[in-house]
Amino acid sequence: MGAQMGGRAIVHRTSQIARATPHGIILHERRIAPFAMLEPVGPDGSHSSYGYIMILLNNAIASIQVGVEDYIAHDERRALSALRNLHAGILLLAKEQLRRLSPEGSDEALIKQHIRLKRSANGALIPIGVGKKTVDVAAIKTRFADLRIPFDWAPLDRIQAIRNAIEHYHFRGTAAELRAALADAQELVHRLLVDVLREEPVARLGQKCWDVLLDQNAIIDKESRACAASLAPVEWLTQRALEAAEEGLRCPRCRSHLIKHQGAPVTDPAELDLVCGACGVEFGGQASLVATLNDDYYVDTHYSVSDNDPVITCPDCHAQTYVRDDAECAWCAFAMPAEARCSVCDAPLEPDEYDPTAERPLCSYHGYTAANDDD
Ligand SMILES: [Zn+2]
Ligand SMILES: [Zn+2]
Ligand SMILES: [Zn+2]
Repeated sequence: MGAQMGGRAIVHRTSQIARATPHGIILHERRIAPFAMLEPVGPDGSHSSYGYIMILLNNAIASIQVGVEDYIAHDERRALSALRNLHAGILLLAKEQLRRLSPEGSDEALIKQHIRLKRSANGALIPIGVGKKTVDVAAIKTRFADLRIPFDWAPLDRIQAIRNAIEHYHFRGTAAELRAALADAQELVHRLLVDVLREEPVARLGQKCWDVLLDQNAIIDKESRACAASLAPVEWLTQRALEAAEEGLRCPRCRSHLIKHQGAPVTDPAELDLVCGACGVEFGGQASLVATLNDDYYVDTHYSVSDNDPVITCPDCHAQTYVRDDAECAWCAFAMPAEARCSVCDAPLEPDEYDPTAERPLCSYHGYTAANDDD
C-alpha cells in the first residue's frame, strides 16, 4: 500500500511517539499510527477524504495501543503516559463518532469546538465547523447528549481523576489505581468501538492490546465482586442508600467503585470501615454515600431535573445526603416533621430552613427579618 516514502514516514513518526511519551504527547503532532493504512495522501499524491477518515480512527487506536504499551512496561515513570494516551485515545474514538454524524458539507462540524450556521439554497440551516480547534471533553459530552447517544462518562471521569492526581500532586499512582484505570479504559473502548462505532475491537486494536485491557477488567471484576460481598450484610436505613450501594458506592477521592469494607462483617452502616481499592483512601459509610449521591452521573440518572440542588445537607445528621425527591435523608432516614412550620407565618419549612434545636422555628424570610430586627 502506498509508496515506499510513505512507509518511511510512518516508521519515523512512530519513533517520535516513543520519544515523546515520558512528557506526554501533544496529540496533534501524533498523526501517524504504527500501521500502513492511515497515510492521508492517496497513492496519486492527492489528499483523499478516505485518508482523513482513517486518521482520526487510527490515531485513536494508536493512542490506546501506546497507552497499553506504556502500561505493560511496568515502569512507573510511564504511568502518566499510559493514562494520557488512553484518555486521548478514548476522546478520539468519541470524536470519530461525532465526525461520522457530522452533516455532509459541514466541514466536520460536530468535531469542531466552534460552529456557525449557514443557510443553504433551500433555506435549511446547516452547521459549519469553524477553525481548527476540536471539541474538548465537556463539548464531547454535550454533543453526545444532544445527539441522544446514551453514554456513561463516569469511567472517563475516573481516569481523568487519577491522571490529575498524578499530574498535579506528583503522585505516581499505585498499581491498583492504574489497573482500575485500564479496566475503565476497556469499558469505554468497548462501548465506543462496539456499541457506538460498530467496529471490532480485536481487529482494530490487535489481540495482544485487547487482551491486556480485558485481563485488567477481569481482575477488577473479581475485586468488585469481593467489594459487593463485603457490603452485602449492611442494613441501610433507606431504600435510596440500599440502591446506591447495590449500584456501587463511589470513592470520595477518585470515584472508583472498588469500595470494600475491611475487617469483620457489619450490619450497621455507621460501623463501616471502607477502603478504596483503586487509590487506597479510607473513609466511612457516610462519606461514601455522600460521594455516591452527589456524583454527576448519579445525579443525572436518578433525580428529577429542577433548579434546586437535588441533594442537600441533612438538618439532622448534617451530611450532604438529604434527597429532595425522596423527602428523606438517605443516610439517617430523617424526614421533615409535620410540625416543622414557621412560627410567624406557619409556612412549612424547607429542610435547609429547619433547625431541630431552634426554639422559634422560622422560614428563611422571617429568619432574615428577625435577624435584621435584632440589629
Ligand atoms: Zn479512591
Ligand atoms: Zn441525615
Ligand atoms: Zn415565615
